[in-house]
Amino acid sequence: MTRFTSIVQKQRDFFSKDATRPLAFRIDVLRRLKSAIQKRESQWYAAIAADFGKSRFDTYTTEFGLLYGDIDETIKELPRWSRRRRVRTNLANLPGRSYLIPEPLGVCLVIGAWNYPYLLSLSPVVAALAAGNTAILKPSELPAATSQAMREMVAAEFEPELFSVVEGGVSETTELLEERFDKIFFTGSPAVGRIVYMAAAKQMTPVTLELGGKSPAIVAKDSQLQHAAKRIVWGKFLNAGQTCVAPDYLLVDRSVQDELLEQLRRCIERFQYKVENNNYPRIINERNFRRLADLIDPAKVVVGGMCDESSYTISPTILRDVTLDDRVMQEEIFGPILPVIGYSDVDEAIAAVRSLPKPLACYIFTHDTVLRDRLLGRLSFGGGAVNDTLMHLSNNNLPFGGVGNSGIGSYHGEAGFRAFSHNKSVLDKPFWFEPDFKYPPYSERKLKWIKWLLG
Ligand code: NAD
Repeated sequence: MTRFTSIVQKQRDFFSKDATRPLAFRIDVLRRLKSAIQKRESQWYAAIAADFGKSRFDTYTTEFGLLYGDIDETIKELPRWSRRRRVRTNLANLPGRSYLIPEPLGVCLVIGAWNYPYLLSLSPVVAALAAGNTAILKPSELPAATSQAMREMVAAEFEPELFSVVEGGVSETTELLEERFDKIFFTGSPAVGRIVYMAAAKQMTPVTLELGGKSPAIVAKDSQLQHAAKRIVWGKFLNAGQTCVAPDYLLVDRSVQDELLEQLRRCIERFQYKVENNNYPRIINERNFRRLADLIDPAKVVVGGMCDESSYTISPTILRDVTLDDRVMQEEIFGPILPVIGYSDVDEAIAAVRSLPKPLACYIFTHDTVLRDRLLGRLSFGGGAVNDTLMHLSNNNLPFGGVGNSGIGSYHGEAGFRAFSHNKSVLDKPFWFEPDFKYPPYSERKLKWIKWLLG
């Protein structure tokens, strides 16, 4: 028994009444969720600003906008995703029909990360409820005001047996993980991902793990450097670098390194990153601020490097002549520090990426399609973009998730619906055709038939 046994049981009882299965019910739930958020938008802007100084512009573009788009698309596509799908039937099973029936899994636990707290908590919940499950959300405790805002909204608008929020940190999550769920969806670090995976294994619970890692950006010598710099700077310093798919480090052909560094510097200057300009949030807490400040080697700073302890801000920082042995290359940075490593041959860049655990994202800047395909073919990563950063995650037709150390499974759009569904495989046969050859007594003639059928 834990503090959460009763809510899990309530949800299980509710799920077993089959009320969540009808399409109309699920669509209604999604509509209610969207309007509940819309009603509170201004309070929620204030909460996230209080938590880490995130602006309305950034909050709309990277949280509400994506969330509303997600809900709208899910409502529109849900009838198609939920349909029973016919698949081909093999010769041995003819006459017959084969189909897949998506069914909800049951009671789902969603554990959120702090860096895009609304989106990363509620987007998986959208998929869970759309698929006909019940959901318990445990948002990250670090942004306390957003976590509270979500709990209050859910308590006011939803029946707890369908959707409820548990607030808290390690001790609450540890207790929650002692309960049996039918699905656990976790967003966070690979280290905690392992804890969640082990707890899920005890109960044989399926998981989706959306983790992080060191995502490279590779800039080839033929790249359009001005545009590449703009897109890299935007992707890196959005949310002060606290983005799971931000370019963690830069690999650049040495012949264009100086020019790229100059373009990056100009871009940072032009974007005028400052908390007061509403385009640059704080580092989430003191622990992360100190960790990041320690990663900056003053001897390697070419841009920025200023750390203000009173406001937990770190200016956009670029380090050059970094090596794989430097401390900044030993862990995911998750902050506004961009180490730059030069390469002479693209094989060096490939070897560098491969020497680290498989990343969540990878960005390739080149016009050379042969080089592009070589990199895409030889590097393993969750997802990525050619000549851009981050934007792949805003295309819901691209399942979003990691590989190896950066995660298990994926979501967004239909992939999210599938992540929270089981595809029941059914073979449906008539009685009117009953060949005898699979039944005993066996004979050589029957075996011949079987060989013909099975190939
Ligand atoms: P985190 O792993 O510290 O925390 C994530 C969640 O786990 C929180 O809700 C937290 O309360 C809980 N938690 C923390 N320690 C725990 C423990 N010992 N036992 C049980 N639960 C525990 O991650 P974070 O700091 O919130 O986020 C940063 C990490 O998340 C980075 O690695 C980043 O790349 C990754 N991330 C990934 C995605 C993605 O979509 N793949 C998105 C955002 C962040």
